[in-house]
Amino acid sequence: MPTSVAVFGDAISGHEQRISTAVIDAYSQCFAQGFLSHRLHIRPPQPKPYGLVAADIGTLIHEVLSHVDHVTSDDLPDHAVIRDQVQKTVLRHRCCRYLTDGQRITLGAHLERSVLEWVSYRVTAHQDDTISHCQHEVCIDKTLFGMQFTVRLDRVDYFPDGSCRIIDYKTGLTNRSAWLQDPPQSPQLVVYALCQPKTRAIAFASLHPDHLGYSGYGSQSDLTGIKPITEIILSQPDTSDKVYNNWPTQMALWEKSVARLVAHYREGALHKNPVNGSATCQYCQLQSACRYYEQPVLEPAS
Ligand code: SF4
Repeated sequence: MPTSVAVFGDAISGHEQRISTAVIDAYSQCFAQGFLSHRLHIRPPQPKPYGLVAADIGTLIHEVLSHVDHVTSDDLPDHAVIRDQVQKTVLRHRCCRYLTDGQRITLGAHLERSVLEWVSYRVTAHQDDTISHCQHEVCIDKTLFGMQFTVRLDRVDYFPDGSCRIIDYKTGLTNRSAWLQDPPQSPQLVVYALCQPKTRAIAFASLHPDHLGYSGYGSQSDLTGIKPITEIILSQPDTSDKVYNNWPTQMALWEKSVARLVAHYREGALHKNPVNGSATCQYCQLQSACRYYEQPVLEPAS
């Protein structure tokens, strides 16, 4: 049987108080993963792919959208404007600097098609939307639980009452239900919501061709794909009285979970507690550093 033994390295020092959401992400998966990657800065060697990777495509699409997609407008952006912005982005962006002319043309056509598909979807999806304005690329510097977070939000939609909806563009597959695990998994948007206390919804905007649309949770009925949190049942399946969630409760749960992860980071926790056991380790590239197979897993992440 695995034994529960607390294992700690040194507590953090002053210069380690400025962190990114990647620290929370790593600690939500496994304390050893968090400690090895963000305290000891052990990074597995990364393959150097030739050309662009999926993240580059996502960055380029988002950059184009930030210039051409005016979310409060019901009109489709002009096709020529999109094409022009795509060309400018491909010419300017660092990740495209070694592409041949032919590759730039193929990439430009792909970006143009993806952006057109998204804006067509977006205009329809937002027909009954009540936001007053929207901002792309919102930078926030915020102290949370004694840590300094600097975050960059892809898009924030503001409602007339001052509340907001946080949107993160994704070109790959997304999984909103991971946010409801304890601790929340892939907690980037959860941390964004804690940085913006007036948040009333968080959602991925998926540009994946098979899953085009929003996927997230909100305090109430919202855009298609943003599920009201009040539809989530909190009570155990075998109890007769169902208890439904609500937004303040969910925000409080997230606050508690993220505060706990921050505390573990702060005190130097390095337990091997992969949240989904060997499935988590399978995607972790730190196995040789943590010597996972030589010592038992100790306790679940919390
Ligand atoms: S291999 Fe598993 S136990 Fe080791 S750091 Fe990664 S997730 Fe944690």
